[in-house]
Amino acid sequence: MKRTVLPLALLLAFAGCNKQPPPKAPTSSDTASATPVSGPFTAQELPQFAALDPIDTHTHAFQNAPALYALLKRLNLHTLDITLVDDYDPELKDLSKERKDAWKVVHASDGYIAMCSTFDPFKYSRPNFARNANRIIDEDFSRGAVAVKIWKNVGMEIKDAKGNYIMPDNPVFEPIFKNIAAHNKTLVAHLADPNTIWEAPNPNSADYDYYTQHPELYMYLKHGVPSKASILVARDHVLEANPNLRVVGAHLGSMEADFHQLAQHLDKYPNFAVDLAARMPYVEMQPRADIIAFIAKYQDRLIYATDNELNPDSNAQDAMKEWESVYANDWRFFATDDVLEYKGHKVQGLALPQPVLRKLYHDNAVKWFPGILATH
Ligand SMILES: [Zn+2]
Repeated sequence: MKRTVLPLALLLAFAGCNKQPPPKAPTSSDTASATPVSGPFTAQELPQFAALDPIDTHTHAFQNAPALYALLKRLNLHTLDITLVDDYDPELKDLSKERKDAWKVVHASDGYIAMCSTFDPFKYSRPNFARNANRIIDEDFSRGAVAVKIWKNVGMEIKDAKGNYIMPDNPVFEPIFKNIAAHNKTLVAHLADPNTIWEAPNPNSADYDYYTQHPELYMYLKHGVPSKASILVARDHVLEANPNLRVVGAHLGSMEADFHQLAQHLDKYPNFAVDLAARMPYVEMQPRADIIAFIAKYQDRLIYATDNELNPDSNAQDAMKEWESVYANDWRFFATDDVLEYKGHKVQGLALPQPVLRKLYHDNAVKWFPGILATH
C-alpha cells in the first residue's frame, strides 16, 4: 500500500480550523495493550452519532422489514438504496422485480430511505437501448430517485459479438449520462473493483474473500481481460466528457489501495467525489497521521457509506445487528480515539473534529446527492 506524504502545514491547518487540540498521537504500546472496542452503540455513544444527522449513501435493502425502519429511526440515520443488475445474483437479475422491492422499502421507510435507480447494461446492443433505459430512469426520477448507478459488469463482464469488453465510456451509455446531468442527479460509478481480483490470492488482503465468493469476476485467472487501469481510464473519460455530471465513485472510487492516485483524481476532477463503502479497512490501515491529513484535505469530497445489505430472504433482525455494529465501529474510528481491531491489527480512532465529521456523515451526502433528504 502506498503511503500518502503528510504535509506538516496541512496537519497544523487542520488542527487549527476546529479550535480543538489535534488528536493525541498514540504510542504503539498504548494501542497494543488496549482492549479493542466493538459491538453496538452504547447509551453514551448513540446520541453523539445521531446528532450528526448521519447519512449512509450506499446500501442495498430489498426487504420491506420493520426492523430496518426501526433501526434507522433509532439511529436518526438516512440511507440511499442502490439498485443494480447482477446476472449472477438471483435476487438482482431482474431489474423490474428489484425496482419494485426497492421502491416498497423507500415508501415504507417514512422518508429515511432514498432511491438510486439503474439501467440494465446487458441490453446495451438492443435498438433504442439508451432511450428505454432513460424512460425507466426518468420514471424513477419523477418518483424521487436522486441517483443512477453504473456497475462493474460494464468493463469486467459484458462483451460485444467480437468478444471485446464494453467499457464505461462506450458511446451507448452517453445519452444516459447526459440525461442524469440534465436532471441534476448523480451518477454512482462502481467500476473495476476490488484490486484483489486482478491479483494472485493473498490471504492478508482486506478483500481476500471476494474472489472466492465471486469466481465469475476473478480476472486474475482470465485471459484477454481489461486491466483495472484501463477500465478506470474509461471511467475518467466519462468524468472528462461530462463536466456537469456529478459522479460519486463507489468504494473510494475503486482506488482503495492507492491514496495518492485517489488524491490526484480528486484534484483533477471537480465533479468527482468518493464514498467509503466497504473500504474502511483500507482507510483504517493507513498510518494515522497520514489519513487524518488526507481526510482534512479532501473533507468536502469523501462521503460516508457502508454497502450494508438486506436481501429479500435475509433474517432482518440479524442483519440489523450487523448494520448497527458497522455503524458503531466506523463512527468510533472517525469520532473517538478508542482502540479498534481489524483482522488482528489494532488501530486507534482518529478523533476527527466535529465539523469534519459533520461533512463526512451529512453535508457531503446532501451536496453530492441533492434531494437525498427531500422525502423526510
Ligand atoms: Zn454496493
